[in-house]
Amino acid sequence: MNAVLLRRAVLGLFLLALALAPAFGGDFTITLLNYIGLYSLVALGLVLLTGVAGLTSFGQAAFVGVGAYTTAILTTRFGISPWLGLPAALAATAVVALILGWLTLRLSGHYLALGTIAWGISLSYVFGNVQGLGGFNGIPEVPSLSIPGYKFETTRQYFYLIWLVTLLALASIVGLLDSRPGRAIRALRNPVMAESFGIDTARLKIWVFLYAALLAGVAGWLHAHYLRFVNPGPFGLGYSLEYLFMIVVGGAGHVWGAIAGAALITGLKTWLQGILPKLLGSSGQFETIVFGILIVLLLQYASDGLMPWLDRLLPRRKVSRAPAEAKALGQAAFPARGSVILEVEDAQKAFGGLMAVNGLGFQIKAGEILGLIGPNGAGKSTMFNLITGLLPMSGGQVRFQGERLDGLPARAIVGRGIARTFQHVHLRPAMSVIENVAIGATRRGRKGMVSAALRLERAEERQILFEAARQVRRVGLAEHMDDAVGSLALGQQRIVEIARALAADPVLLLLDEPAAGLRHQEKQALAALLRGLRDQGMAILLVEHDIAFVMGLVDRLVVMDFGEKIAEGPPERVRRDPKVIEAYLGSAGTGP
Ligand code: ADP
Ligand code: MG
Repeated sequence: MNAVLLRRAVLGLFLLALALAPAFGGDFTITLLNYIGLYSLVALGLVLLTGVAGLTSFGQAAFVGVGAYTTAILTTRFGISPWLGLPAALAATAVVALILGWLTLRLSGHYLALGTIAWGISLSYVFGNVQGLGGFNGIPEVPSLSIPGYKFETTRQYFYLIWLVTLLALASIVGLLDSRPGRAIRALRNPVMAESFGIDTARLKIWVFLYAALLAGVAGWLHAHYLRFVNPGPFGLGYSLEYLFMIVVGGAGHVWGAIAGAALITGLKTWLQGILPKLLGSSGQFETIVFGILIVLLLQYASDGLMPWLDRLLPRRKVSRAPAEAKALGQAAFPARGSVILEVEDAQKAFGGLMAVNGLGFQIKAGEILGLIGPNGAGKSTMFNLITGLLPMSGGQVRFQGERLDGLPARAIVGRGIARTFQHVHLRPAMSVIENVAIGATRRGRKGMVSAALRLERAEERQILFEAARQVRRVGLAEHMDDAVGSLALGQQRIVEIARALAADPVLLLLDEPAAGLRHQEKQALAALLRGLRDQGMAILLVEHDIAFVMGLVDRLVVMDFGEKIAEGPPERVRRDPKVIEAYLGSAGTGP
C-alpha cells in the first residue's frame, strides 16, 4: 500500500476507535479518555508554544484555571448561560495572557522559564486565596452544558464534545504550521533570520502565546462544566509541569505528540496510582517517584519522544511540496540600470573600543555587482549588518532609493527590497529546502494565523510555495527540493540561503561569502546565476574570499582593512594598488 494511504488508514483507525469508545468502553475508560482529551487540548497549545516556537511555559495550567474560574463564577453567581461563559472565559484568558506575555516574552532562555513559573504560582495562589473564589474547596455546583433538547450530563455525553474540540484544535494547529505564519513561527527559534525576512518576532511570540493560552482557557471551560466544580488543585505548578512532560514524551515539536503524550502520561499515572498501593501495601504517593523514574528512563531511551518514533515505523510519504502551477506572486520592478540605489556615507560601528567599521562610504548602482573585499576581521560582515539593520550604526548614514535606512529594524529593511545571506548559515535544519526558501517570501504574503488555522489561505500558500520552488530550481537545487536542509553539504546550504534571499524579491542582494565550501563547477554555476541576476537589473553586493571568483565577476571593488576603505575601482586597477597588496600580505599572505 502506498505511504499516504497507509497513514490515512492509521488515522482513520484512530478516529474510528475514538468514535466507538463510548459504545465499548466502561465508565472508567471513558472518564480517562475525557481527561486525556482535556489535557491534550492544553498540550496542543504547548506544542506550538514550546515545541515549535521554543518558548518554554511553566504556567500553562494557570490559564486552564483562568478559563475554569471565569465560567464557574459567572454561571454560579450571576446565573449566566455556560455558553456565554465560554466567550467570557476566553476573554479573561486573553487579557491575562496578553499582560503576562507582554511582561515575560521579552525575557529569554532561563529567565523566560522562571518568569512563567513566577506567574504560574501567583495565579494558583490567587485561585486558592482570593475572597469569593471558595478557597481550597473551590466553587461547587457549576451547571452542566445543555443545548435545546439535549443536556450534557454523563461522562459519555461529554466525551464527544471534549474530543470534538480537541480534534478541531489539532486540525487548526496542523493547518497553521503548514502555512506562511506557521513557517514564521518555526523560524522564531532563529530570531536574527526571522527578523531579516520580515517577521516581527516580538509580536508573533505574543500571538503564539495567546493562542496556546486560549486553548488552555477552552480546556478550563470544559473542565468546569464537565466536573461541575472547580478548585485550585489542577491549576498549580505541578500540572503545568505535567503538561510539559506530555509534550516532551509525545515528541515536543509534533502535533500528534500532544495526544500521544497526554495519553501516555495520564494512563501511566492512573495505572501506577491503582497498582502501587496494592504492591506496597500502603498508600503513600509512591506513584510520583516511580512516575519520575519512568519519565527519566523514557527520555534516556527515546529522547525525541513517542510520535517521532511511531512516525518512523510508518513509511515516509514522498509527495513534493512544490505545486505544479500557481499564479505568480507580484514582483517589484528594478530601478533604471546604472542609477544609484544604495549610498553608504561615513558608516561607523564601534564594539567597545574597537572600530569595526570606521568612516566607510560607497555607492551601489542598479545592475552592477560590487565586490567588498578585505582581510579577515576587516569589518565586511559588520557592514552587511549595518545595511540590513541587524546592528545599529554608531554614526553615518545609509540611504536606499533616496530613503534613510539607518534606524529602521531589519524586518522593515527587507520590505524595502534588500535581502541577504549570512556568512554563517541561518537555516532551519529540520525543515525542507523549499520550506526554508519559502520563509524568504514571508513579506510577499498577507494572510495571518487565523486564516491559516482555518485553511483559508491555500491559494496564497500555493503561490508562495510555487515561488519558493522556482527559486530553488533557479539556484540549481531542484533535486534537493524536499530534503531537510540539514542533510545538505554546507556549500549547498549557502546556496539555499541565496534562493531564500531571492524569494524575498530583492532589488539589492547582499551575499556574504557565498562561494565558501563550493566545488569548482558549483562556483561557476553560482557566477553564472549572479551574472544573470545582474543582467536583469538586480544590484549585488558581494563579500567573498575566493579572489579569482571575485575578479571574474564584479564590476567594481571596494577594499576594506581595519574598518576603513583603502581602495575602490575596477578590479584590474585595484589588484595592482600597493595598499591593497600590503593589506593582504600583512594578513593572510595571499594577495588579490
Ligand atoms: P569580516 O566580515 O570582514 O571578516 P567582521 O565584520 O566579522 O569582519 O568583524 C570586524 C571586527 O569586528 C572583528 O575584529 C570582529 O572581531 C569584530 N566584531 C564583529 N562582530 C562583533 C560583535 N558582535 N561584538 C564585538 N566585536 C565584533
Ligand atoms: Mg565576515
